[in-house]
Amino acid sequence: MPDTPTPEPSAPVTKKPEKATEVADGPLVIVEDLRKVYRTGPKEVVALDGVSFRGEPGELIAIRGRSGSGKTTLLNQVGGLDRPDAGRVVVAGQEVTALPEDGLLALRRDVVGFVFQSFGLIPVLSAAENVGVPMRLARVPAAEREERVRVLLAMVGLERHANQRPYELSGGQQQRVAIARALANRPRLLIADEPTGQLDSQTGRQIMELLRALVRSEGVTALVATHDPNLITLADRTLHLHDGRLAIPVS
Ligand code: ADP
Ligand code: MG
Repeated sequence: MPDTPTPEPSAPVTKKPEKATEVADGPLVIVEDLRKVYRTGPKEVVALDGVSFRGEPGELIAIRGRSGSGKTTLLNQVGGLDRPDAGRVVVAGQEVTALPEDGLLALRRDVVGFVFQSFGLIPVLSAAENVGVPMRLARVPAAEREERVRVLLAMVGLERHANQRPYELSGGQQQRVAIARALANRPRLLIADEPTGQLDSQTGRQIMELLRALVRSEGVTALVATHDPNLITLADRTLHLHDGRLAIPVS
């Protein structure tokens, strides 16, 4: 979705939401001055050093940067998988950095969907059962769950593979299952950490195009860490990380 930077009128009375997914107060993701230091023994690694940005509803943001630049650390703090040393994260109006553990659990279940490089599927479960896991955790009734699983598998083009286990699927197909699973509970934010890192370039391209299309159709905001030049062309915006800092945008 094009990121149209409409000038904000000074009188909030005239403000009208353009999209159904819009949060009343504006950006879906707010990251402010995020800092994360890893301490292993006497050594300190500053993984994030004052990172700030905002993500609008429906926006697909690519996060680039060399290995070790802090991409995974950033995504983990935004998605509530880890806690920063300083700074603030707000997702869909929830102050992630202030949430207690059970709040983080609910956030990761209901508000954020995750896609990882290594797919992260449960090997003993079928594709359909894997997609159903987040809905089981959210106690979605069985009939509704099964219907949603069908819809999700069709969305990623795997309706005919519902009963196959991960080892009976190709890498690209496994990542499609993981994407369907990430979208199961209709998250507001999709976080994908190098989702094509284990795929050949053609399959990677297809996965990135699928992500692009789903971000549009589902109206989610997506943060995608990648080195993949394919995604860069599909993203609405690209953030560059260097040693835990965001590069100043050129434009
Ligand atoms: P990227 O995802 O861009 O490759 P990471 O966020 O994984 O970067 O890592 C950023 C920096 O933090 C690197 O220097 C890495 O070695 C360090 N780091 C990441 N995770 C840990 C950890 N759990 N303990 C110590 N250092 C870590
Ligand atoms: Mg990483």
